[in-house]
Amino acid sequence: MVVNSLIAYLLPLFPKSFVKIFAKPYLAGETLEEALAEIRALNARGISATLDLLGEDPKRRSQCRAAVETYTSALGRIAEEGLDSGISLKPSHMGLKLDKTFCFDNIREVAGHAAGRGIFVRIDMEDTALKNDTLDLFFRLKTEFGNVGIVVQAYLRSAIQDIKPLMDVKAGIRLCKGAYYWEPKKEVYKDPAIIRSSYAYLLEQLLSHGCFTGIATHDETLVFEALKIIDRLGLGKDAYEFQMLFGVEEELRTILRDQGHPVRVYVPFGEEWPAYSIRRLKENPKMVSYVFSSLLKKLIRR
Ligand SMILES: Cc1cc2nc3c(=O)[nH]c(=O)nc-3n(C[C@H](O)[C@H](O)[C@H](O)COP(=O)(O)OP(=O)(O)OC[C@H]3O[C@@H](n4cnc5c(N)ncnc54)[C@H](O)[C@@H]3O)c2cc1C
Repeated sequence: MVVNSLIAYLLPLFPKSFVKIFAKPYLAGETLEEALAEIRALNARGISATLDLLGEDPKRRSQCRAAVETYTSALGRIAEEGLDSGISLKPSHMGLKLDKTFCFDNIREVAGHAAGRGIFVRIDMEDTALKNDTLDLFFRLKTEFGNVGIVVQAYLRSAIQDIKPLMDVKAGIRLCKGAYYWEPKKEVYKDPAIIRSSYAYLLEQLLSHGCFTGIATHDETLVFEALKIIDRLGLGKDAYEFQMLFGVEEELRTILRDQGHPVRVYVPFGEEWPAYSIRRLKENPKMVSYVFSSLLKKLIRR
């Protein structure tokens, strides 16, 4: 375990081609075509998708505009092919760290294209430095578009307060634990038991206030908590969905689908994959040894 964690932490120092061996299970590919093929395969198995173009922290406006163009093409393809997929985007990728107005205009442009095609746009939540601006962007977009949703991170100490105005507007929410685990203790809970407890509390609040909620977790304890809440509130399948990441806990998502629960998979693609995949590997260093053992098996079979 210590060796796996060490490898996961040292990966950024290795050449991209080596890192890719470990990153591959989490990626739907580098091109839009590859990602669309994965979405088709998921849809054929009764699973919805949300397509994410990887990229965070661009330094130039032209990179943000290129992302807007890729999302616009993706929306066109999703609509043309009638795929069951929304899109997810990161405010930093749309230019939030460069200029808030520029970022708002970019997301508004993408949301407009999506609205015209009846496609849902999820605004991902990043680190706490961006939280207030991200919420502000969401509330502004919400006055114009019904097809835009936001993310709440259960590890945030502020989450209990943050959800109140979101519940007032019956926002469509994705609830996750939170991935920016290096945030300071004054901002986020560090104790996994408290994060779980916060998750279950927030989920019950959101669902009982009529917010459609994407239950984004692979933690089976929380999946069980969610099933209890859904049962206690007597909710129909139009009130929630389970959401999981591409390449993670496929068995659990299949079990939920087979039980008749709506399931959506987050499908990340693009050339800017290192930051995302290294975050995933650090979350679960066990993956390092899975990748090693499958490489070893392939070598032995030759
Ligand atoms: C659809 C979706 C969208 C998300 N969007 C955001 C977002 O906008 N902002 C944000 O901060 N975070 C986001 N996240 C990430 C989230 O915050 C967590 O970091 C991540 O989901 C791991 O938390 P967990 O609830 O699965 O619990 P964990 O306790 O981390 O994991 C539970 C179990 O799931 C399996 N597992 C979890 N992660 C991995 C992995 N990487 N590789 C292999 N197995 C794994 C393991 O078996 C683990 O024991 C998203 C997650 C999902 C599913």
